Amino acid sequence: MSATLQSAGHVTRHQAYRDLAGSVCPCGGVKLRNVPFCGPCHFKLPKPLQADLFDPRADYVTAYERALEQLHLESPAAREDIQGKTAIQHGVQAVIRETQTQTHQTK
Ligand SMILES: [Zn+2]
Repeated sequence: MSATLQSAGHVTRHQAYRDLAGSVCPCGGVKLRNVPFCGPCHFKLPKPLQADLFDPRADYVTAYERALEQLHLESPAAREDIQGKTAIQHGVQAVIRETQTQTHQTK
């Protein structure tokens, strides 16, 4: 996988299925496992999109992305991954700062 930052609303297949298996709705509410959204979010979606999310012939990831877009929500898994990356970047910066301080002290 590339390290480039994802645009908002975009989910990878892995993230889409992680959300599906989890019990947190993108709105922050509680949802059932193996359904993409909680009841209130699900019923805000247009009927054809509701159907696509449960249609095995439709591409689930595409349908899920379209649904997130409709609801103006972000995938919890994608958000988690971005936060994880940011945390790693902060960690690296802290190490760099420490190294610089040590270099100054030895002079
Ligand atoms: Zn919801």
